[in-house]
Amino acid sequence: MTVSPTRDTSAASQSPPTVRIALNRPLRRLFDYQIPDHLPLQPGQRVSIPFGRQSATGLVVETGVEPPEGIHLKPVYSALESWPALPPETFRLLTWAADYYQHPLGECLFTALPPALRRGRPAMEKTDHWWRASGLTEALPGNARRQKALLEWLRQRPQGAAASAIVAAGFTREQIRALQQRQLIVETSPAPRQCAGPDDQAYPGPALSPAQLAAIKEVPGPDDGFSASLLFGITGSGKTELYLHYLKQQLDHSAQALVLVPEINLTPQTVSRFQRYFGDRIVVWHSALNDSERLATWLKIRNGEPVILIGTRSAVLLPFTGLGAIIVDEEHDSSYKQGEGFRYSGRDVAVYRAHLNQCPIILGSATPSLESYQNALSGKYRLVRLEERAGDAKPPAIKLLDIRSRPLEGGLSRPALQAIETCLKAGQQALVFVNRRGFAPVMMCFDCGHMVECPRCDTRLTYHRRDRAMRCHHCDYQTAATEHCPKCESDAFKPVGQGTERTEDILAAQFPDTPVVRVDRDSTQRKGSIQGILKQVNTGKPCVLVGTQMLAKGHDFPDVTLVVVVNADGGLFSIDFRAPEQLIQTLLQVSGRAGRGQNPGKVLVQTCHSDHPILRSLCQGHYLTLADQLLSEREAGLFPPFRAMAIFRAEADTMEKSLQLLDTLKPKASVSGIDVWGPLPALIARRADRHRAQLVLCCSNRKRLNQVLAHLCQELDQQKLPPGVKWMIDVDPQETG
Ligand code: ADP
Ligand code: ZN
Ligand code: ZN
Repeated sequence: MTVSPTRDTSAASQSPPTVRIALNRPLRRLFDYQIPDHLPLQPGQRVSIPFGRQSATGLVVETGVEPPEGIHLKPVYSALESWPALPPETFRLLTWAADYYQHPLGECLFTALPPALRRGRPAMEKTDHWWRASGLTEALPGNARRQKALLEWLRQRPQGAAASAIVAAGFTREQIRALQQRQLIVETSPAPRQCAGPDDQAYPGPALSPAQLAAIKEVPGPDDGFSASLLFGITGSGKTELYLHYLKQQLDHSAQALVLVPEINLTPQTVSRFQRYFGDRIVVWHSALNDSERLATWLKIRNGEPVILIGTRSAVLLPFTGLGAIIVDEEHDSSYKQGEGFRYSGRDVAVYRAHLNQCPIILGSATPSLESYQNALSGKYRLVRLEERAGDAKPPAIKLLDIRSRPLEGGLSRPALQAIETCLKAGQQALVFVNRRGFAPVMMCFDCGHMVECPRCDTRLTYHRRDRAMRCHHCDYQTAATEHCPKCESDAFKPVGQGTERTEDILAAQFPDTPVVRVDRDSTQRKGSIQGILKQVNTGKPCVLVGTQMLAKGHDFPDVTLVVVVNADGGLFSIDFRAPEQLIQTLLQVSGRAGRGQNPGKVLVQTCHSDHPILRSLCQGHYLTLADQLLSEREAGLFPPFRAMAIFRAEADTMEKSLQLLDTLKPKASVSGIDVWGPLPALIARRADRHRAQLVLCCSNRKRLNQVLAHLCQELDQQKLPPGVKWMIDVDPQETG
């Protein structure tokens, strides 16, 4: 990391104390400033500083820095708080992560602040004024209808209401002010907050089963310091119930806990289950919060309130001061890895954080990542098994359905449709999994063979019939759908392959008396609409759910007894070394939605490759056996987790420029201990008109790789790049195509 002095032209006599500061910019550089008299500063503290011709918000990285000789530094303007916004443990965590992921320290540190604090706003909640009717009666002018309505509204609320609630009810701040001037309303103290849930003597929940009891006993408590447990619990085995009991039994009343989940909006049930046990102690963190909600939650955590935070990836970076336990649910989920900018893995950072705090971490999954499983095999993590379903439920039976010579309707074979019919007739629910949203993955002309491609990417356009559009799923391009081939005008222009919309149509036609519910990114776009969808499913009445991966994520649908996988073959022949692992995880997770209640579950997997070894072992249904096989393939190929991997990616307006940048990097990367592959164009070489290439580095020694990466990043950073050329580094990449 380089340091830039910030010259002050006004002369000073002797070297004043100096502080090193990080800014929220993508710069691998820190800045030195003079500390004005008597301003005590410590690492993690927010400061206001002159920067260029403006002022900026900075974070103190180091104090007591040796002042440079002969240069007069500019002084810090002021400290924004007298305390560090990033307490020591959070600060250490982020410094470690910046080094591990080779990302500029400033951007890493600022990720842990809510947007308001990044912008230099004060670290306090905006006070919400409370108003109540004063009791005076003065006739309002006839045209003040809304003021009258507001007054009436407040008269019905003897305790008064917060200004924010008044605005939320459709009134304006001007109306409040007008009534206040007439002295018809007065400010009052806020009513005590209502408890959202039960208090200490909370909800007991079901008693743990013998299998759950045996498992929970194996997880060390907070008194044992750092421990990492990989909870391998098959789908529906009651992992969530186990987390709840564990926290209830083990978490100190004054301690904080962090529960990471892949996507909170998809599983609102999880949050309400936690609230039933812990009431107001539960707080949430996810991307749908607005700025003031974020600030309020951030402050609670920073103030050390003993909250249990349920959050997505970035929650792991929040400024906890008393973490007593960490849980990572569905730890295999790829959404834990940030795909752009600061490309950290929430799961892996969580493990390091547990280590810093000397507290336990539980990584739970029915399909653990090969990384975590290998750590369990090597003894770094403790493997805790939970291999029975909770209650009376039994694991579903998985059957392959060879569809090579079968006629299909909307991708569904006769036996699959019959199975759905039988299921519905028995009063139960069915789930149909399709791995593509839209109507069909491509439109093709059966006369000239033309397929419609994205003009900006090397991909085909997906046909969305509901919106009569063709869309690129890799950039934001879309165009109106046509009925004729755009090339030869033929009307033999047809959708090819399956998307959720098409399957939905077929099912609706086949089962006209049964609701067909589609769940994918398009149907759940509106905030909160997944709740509405789930309501329909939660009635328990017969219905068919059709959807993408979204349906695989941790849902508990007790009345689903049949799962149909429309096509399992997508991941079988991919060049990405993670593809087989991800295919198996998805198939087992989707399968796991069947038979979670009273009735046994059944899974039908349609395939053209029913003799493929992966699919065959899938039917045995034992994940760890499959994981053992996959691990030995990874070991033979020297892939992660047996070696550390990082990818340099380059993008530019031509492929030549991208390859050229990586070509110059290659000899510098090819040092002892490092294996270098490439540079090669990425799998989708052109995306939104950017041409992308990559250089892969592997090394059996992670420390060594880290040193080499640091050196290469430094070099690239100092290099003057041709205009429009960009590079980025991805350590422990999820996608290698
Ligand atoms: P997982 O997180 O492993 O998928 P859940 O914790 O969601 O499993 O449990 C699956 C279902 O079984 C839920 O409906 C849950 O309420 C129920 N369940 C869990 N543990 C028990 C138990 N000990 N007794 C009865 N029902 C249970
Ligand atoms: Zn044509
Ligand atoms: Zn595109």
